[in-house]
Amino acid sequence: MPPRKQFGQHWLRSDRALQQIIAAADLQPGDCVLEIGAGTGILTERLLPLAPVVAVEIDRDLSKALVQKFRSAENLLILEGDILSLNLEPYLAQFPFRRPNKVVANIPYYITGAILELLLGSIAHPNPTPFTSLVLLVQKEVGDRLCAKPGNRTFGALSVRVQYLATCEPICFVPAKAFYPPPKVDSVVVRLQPRSFSPTVDNPHKLETLVKLGFSSKRKMLHNNLKSLLDSAELMAILENLGINPQARAEELGVADWVALSNTSDIRLEDSSAVETLETAE
Ligand code: SAH
Repeated sequence: MPPRKQFGQHWLRSDRALQQIIAAADLQPGDCVLEIGAGTGILTERLLPLAPVVAVEIDRDLSKALVQKFRSAENLLILEGDILSLNLEPYLAQFPFRRPNKVVANIPYYITGAILELLLGSIAHPNPTPFTSLVLLVQKEVGDRLCAKPGNRTFGALSVRVQYLATCEPICFVPAKAFYPPPKVDSVVVRLQPRSFSPTVDNPHKLETLVKLGFSSKRKMLHNNLKSLLDSAELMAILENLGINPQARAEELGVADWVALSNTSDIRLEDSSAVETLETAE
């Protein structure tokens, strides 16, 4: 079947990458997998001997072909639909296995952000029934940001938001040529393990705002980016109090630093008109 561009269809054809994905998923008896974008079923095929699979595929022709291809598999549920709008609940209730506790997928890259939010939730609303792990193929630039350590050039707002919700580790590099047709970008396999961050953030909205403002100009020091919230000198004193370098750029603060900054009562969003401007700009 010719790949459809509008659905981000790129068939993975590297045996090595498939093996690494399966190894990273570390499937154990009792696990159940959610696969997003099963495509031609090349990954599904390797998952099925290890665990029951719920596979969601938006493309009607592919879904039909999957049903045909796996007609004798008893531990597979194929759902045709858009992962972002499909309500899985009524289908899962009929599936004679446990609910999926792991996600393993070569996802469509054009909706990576939305898929991450669907699976992890957000800082304000973490997924109340978190998955044990997510093993995902993502565009390399995104994978680098997800797994970046503070101090790294790629550590940004996405890193803070996702790392607050999950630990993230790179598994392996997958070159564009490992797909047919090759996408314009290289890829990486990443593994995310949702966890509740401790200490928790008192005011998620405040943290989101600080992160957004803090990273608004990457070259500036954090206290400059937050100037609209608080006088630079005051902010530098607060940073110093928290054991953070007052001259730091946003990318140098780890998730714990961001949480500490957000949890200090010395910064109050209500005092600032900058926040309103930021919100109306969205
Ligand atoms: N896992 C397959 C295909 C990956 S390509 C393989 O490795 O060969 C991404 C797949 O996601 C495609 O099959 C595409 O049709 C599907 N897809 C795209 N948007 C989707 C959506 N919103 N919901 C579910 N599946 C989607």
